[in-house]
Amino acid sequence: MTELETEVVVAGAGPTGLMVASELALAGVETLVLEKLAERSRQVKGGGIQPRTAELLELRGLLEPLLSRATSREPVGGHFAALPVPLDCTPWQTRHPFPIAIPQWEIEEVLEERAVKGGARVLRDAGVTGVAADEDGVVVTADGLQVRARYLVACDGGHSTVRKLLGLPFPGRPGTHQAVLADIQLTSVSPLVPQQLGHMSTLTRQAGGYWAMTAPLGDDRYRLTFGRTGPADETALTEFDRDAPVTHDEIAAALEAVYGPETTLGAVANASRFSDATRQLEQYRAGRVLFAGDAAHIHPPLGGQGLNLGLQDAFNLGWKLAATLQGRAAQGLLDSYHTERHPVGAQVIHHTSAQRVLADPHPTKDVAALRDIVVDLLRLPDANRHIAGLMSGLSLHYPLPGDHPLTGHRLPDAELHTATGTTRLSALFASGHAVLLDLTGALPSDLRLPPGIDLVRAACAEGLGASALAVRPDGYVCWATANATADVDVDELRAAITDCIAK
Ligand SMILES: Cc1cc2nc3c(=O)[nH]c(=O)nc-3n(C[C@H](O)[C@H](O)[C@H](O)COP(=O)(O)OP(=O)(O)OC[C@H]3O[C@@H](n4cnc5c(N)ncnc54)[C@H](O)[C@@H]3O)c2cc1C
Repeated sequence: MTELETEVVVAGAGPTGLMVASELALAGVETLVLEKLAERSRQVKGGGIQPRTAELLELRGLLEPLLSRATSREPVGGHFAALPVPLDCTPWQTRHPFPIAIPQWEIEEVLEERAVKGGARVLRDAGVTGVAADEDGVVVTADGLQVRARYLVACDGGHSTVRKLLGLPFPGRPGTHQAVLADIQLTSVSPLVPQQLGHMSTLTRQAGGYWAMTAPLGDDRYRLTFGRTGPADETALTEFDRDAPVTHDEIAAALEAVYGPETTLGAVANASRFSDATRQLEQYRAGRVLFAGDAAHIHPPLGGQGLNLGLQDAFNLGWKLAATLQGRAAQGLLDSYHTERHPVGAQVIHHTSAQRVLADPHPTKDVAALRDIVVDLLRLPDANRHIAGLMSGLSLHYPLPGDHPLTGHRLPDAELHTATGTTRLSALFASGHAVLLDLTGALPSDLRLPPGIDLVRAACAEGLGASALAVRPDGYVCWATANATADVDVDELRAAITDCIAK
């Protein structure tokens, strides 16, 4: 048995684990990622980056390398329950108003590259099989390895081994529908098969007892999701075996039913089954073990939320865990990960439950009536703005203490003019530090801010709604004032800012 020591072990090299590792590495924390699979799965799975996630990735300079790998997609807003009304994110003042389509494995590749460049190590073929945690740290066992660390971050997916090893319940609702996700090649297509990646409502179709969602990926490749349109079959689901192989004939039958016999199946690159089960951990922290991504919450994949939720968990957790390990965290900072992120996961579970009903492939007359009404509502700008904010993540805010209306909110990526030139707000966060932004030049220069907080003086023609603001490394305002002045009480100001970030 090889024995290793590190500061943080991350279980799972999916998007969440790799984002956590990348954030920790950026902060100089020694991080080891243990991944069960010997090689990355090339299954497309999650493929949509929502606008708020795009903004967060841009804070770390990760959006550009991802955009260069994006699948070409019509510039059209996201969807709610696949209803035929695009969601309009422009009222939320974002530079990325449309979902971005990138296969999940490509996102993982970019994140892993960044994490490794920052100094994190990724060991494959090293599935976690044992965890012993005490007050000072954890001992994690993986095939042939024993690793001592100060914290374990479990990002090992919906069937989390770590969760099971710790005996933590995963309360929620079992699935009622099952479906198949497959990356396929089509050797011939009928005109019914979508040829351009556009609004979700243009990619879905029902016929012959099946529903299908087909996303063209280029070069005759498609990402096909399908299921039966019969009423929910509870018995079938109790016997649902997600590991049962998906056969070529099964996929061909669904394709023929939905798109006609002219549509013929070629190679199947990979295929798997999933259900619409919904579950959430009661606590995202169990002592020295923290949970993020699907290990902490699962829900129906409607609306492309899961990968985004996981990446945003990671953005919330990474800097807090680093500050805790480096002895510079404000009191209770690490526990605020659960306090802030659990309600966000619960909200996604709430709206995907509603979407599940609205998108029911076998709707009752009542559900069909409800759907008509929701479609009408989505055409009203205020309702559309509300749902667009929810689905894109742009309306997300945290209930942070402070009187200023910006506290706890994101900021638009405004253009800033500094002594060294013109830049954007997003460009100030590449180091993973928090930023104290002085927009009038009024703050004294002897603030003696603790490490991890950069003072930036800039002018902003658009106006950000405050004269000085402190923005956390994850892009949320934690302090703001309308009247920054040179004779401000420096101790009070420093205390107010560092209370929500670091001491
Ligand atoms: C059909 C479908 C479509 C989807 N579409 C979208 C979408 O458009 N947008 C979106 O945001 N989300 C989407 N999702 C959801 C998204 O794929 C997941 O939410 C996302 O993969 C979660 O990432 P994760 O890193 O938390 O977990 P995973 O991606 O599940 O990664 C967990 C990792 O842990 C590893 N692991 C497991 N056990 C162990 C162990 N014992 N030790 C070490 N490693 C282990 C696994 O091999 C894996 O690499 C979709 C999901 C499905 C099924």
